Amino acid sequence: MIDRGEAIRKVILNGVRWTGLSRLYRALTPRGGAILMLHRVTRSPTSPLGINRHLAIDPDFLDRAIASMKCDGYAFLSMDEIVEYLRGGRGGSPVATLTADDGYRDNMREALPVLESHDAPITVYVAPGLINGSVCLWWNVIEEIIARRDGFYISVKGGAEHVDCSTIAAKRLAYANLEHHLTTQVGELDQDAIVRQLAAASQFDADGPARDLLMNWNELRVFSRHRLVTIGAHTVHHYNLRRLPDDLAAREITDAADIIALELGERPAHMAFPYGYEAAVGGREVKLAAQAGFVTATTTRHGLLSNEHCNDLLALPRISLNGRYQSTGHLMTMLSGITTPIANRGKRYVTV
Ligand SMILES: [Zn+2]
Repeated sequence: MIDRGEAIRKVILNGVRWTGLSRLYRALTPRGGAILMLHRVTRSPTSPLGINRHLAIDPDFLDRAIASMKCDGYAFLSMDEIVEYLRGGRGGSPVATLTADDGYRDNMREALPVLESHDAPITVYVAPGLINGSVCLWWNVIEEIIARRDGFYISVKGGAEHVDCSTIAAKRLAYANLEHHLTTQVGELDQDAIVRQLAAASQFDADGPARDLLMNWNELRVFSRHRLVTIGAHTVHHYNLRRLPDDLAAREITDAADIIALELGERPAHMAFPYGYEAAVGGREVKLAAQAGFVTATTTRHGLLSNEHCNDLLALPRISLNGRYQSTGHLMTMLSGITTPIANRGKRYVTV
């Protein structure tokens, strides 16, 4: 299903491209760099209701996206090289780097061959709590439960509330309401237990999605040694940091680096904030990432890199390669910079 917001975004992306506005905008704007954001890269995405399909792109699209950008003059660098580039204040040809959140196994199996063919480095951000199963991939778990069931009860302030999942429309509404409930109404630390309780009542293995879809530590050890791969941190439990008190938010950031260092033998210098949107990361989280010794941190804010970002390395915006927009035309429009002020209340320089 295409939601209304998505239809409008597509109209904007197509409109600025077909009218030639993006080409004009690009000609008038100095070109800097772009951090591309991926999650899954697979020919077999698993999203029974299509709700999480934005998280998966096809390896062929990744191939076309990198090829188009190379044709357009982009050099693909590692995150360390991007830092050098920004600090060096270099101009000239535009630069890009790839990042992928959460550590999906298909990053190794299906994305890496594409990256090898282009010699394109990637930084993969992992959350140790998701890797070792102490928290579940809740967005996949609730989509699977809602797809399978006709309805269930959840506990809300006023008591038990029935969630209707009897039709496709009801299932989509149920997902939106449950997502809202889990991310805004219950405490971050209670979220996992609530999802596990619902999974148990639904005879669904809450650990299944993480076990089936994410790399384990042994796989990560092999993956991390590849010349094109950098492992970054993604906090321990993938909590929304902004909803945590200071001490817990700080621990989530530093403990992730400590655990990854112990498991993989190298302390990560780069991190991505979970969720990465305005309600999940702000100035406090940026400071905590700096205190933990990270060199860069990325958000999910929509934006391009400019040399000014050498002063804001812990609040870097990205361009999402979204499963719902698998078009190199859309990508080139976003890289022109024209969509940045549209997505950021008029701002062209994006941090947090
Ligand atoms: Zn994530």
